[in-house]
Amino acid sequence: MGLSVVIMGPPGAGKGTQSDLLAKSRSLPKIATGDIFREAIRQGTPMGLRAKALMDQGQLVDDATVIGIVRERLARPDTASGFLLDGFPRTVEQAEALDGLIAERGLAPLVVMNISVPAEELVRRMLSRRVCKACGTNAAPSDTGVCGACGGELVRRADDTEDVVRNRLEVYDRQTRPLVEFYQSRRAYREVDGAQDAVLVTAALNEALDAVAVRAGQPT
Ligand code: ADP
Ligand code: ZN
Repeated sequence: MGLSVVIMGPPGAGKGTQSDLLAKSRSLPKIATGDIFREAIRQGTPMGLRAKALMDQGQLVDDATVIGIVRERLARPDTASGFLLDGFPRTVEQAEALDGLIAERGLAPLVVMNISVPAEELVRRMLSRRVCKACGTNAAPSDTGVCGACGGELVRRADDTEDVVRNRLEVYDRQTRPLVEFYQSRRAYREVDGAQDAVLVTAALNEALDAVAVRAGQPT
């Protein structure tokens, strides 16, 4: 039985970094909707242009577009033995659509992990983080001015300015936080403290995933 994982959390919680590590260690394809949009923006596709206008303001891309992207992505054969979603779902409508896709395709039941971090810390992190202009990878603390993955220039993300960061946190509270309620009564839901050192967050996520994946596979 495969592993269907959702990594949730407010912007700046470390979803991207932790998802990369987990996806690699568990050999799961990582599906990050924010990355998909940033790639579309780099390529200048019509969808990318629409998404950019919303992302630059910290608004969400419309549900129909995001759900369409995830539906197509989950139809690829590499997801048959599992996948890890980063940044999706972000609204209750998206979460309901995901439940539908999982049922329809007979994919493994969802394991949902929520990384929680206090708001002040999120603002601090987003204003100080840097990403690679060329490949989009988050800069590691050891990176010295250039991307450790490709040598590209490290820059602030377009939506990591103070106004946009505040707006993203508001959008999170209004549209994404209700998802915690949507998921938290499920057996395979875990909350992980994202304010601790990144290495400890990774360990906590691995532990939660092991504990919860066993139960997710059991009949309710
Ligand atoms: P963060 O979690 O740090 O905000 P992401 O890379 O996950 O970063 O998302 C960046 C932006 O991409 C969001 O602010 C939003 O505009 C858009 N986006 C990403 N995922 C979704 C989604 N599931 N639904 C709607 N918009 C999304
Ligand atoms: Zn790079």
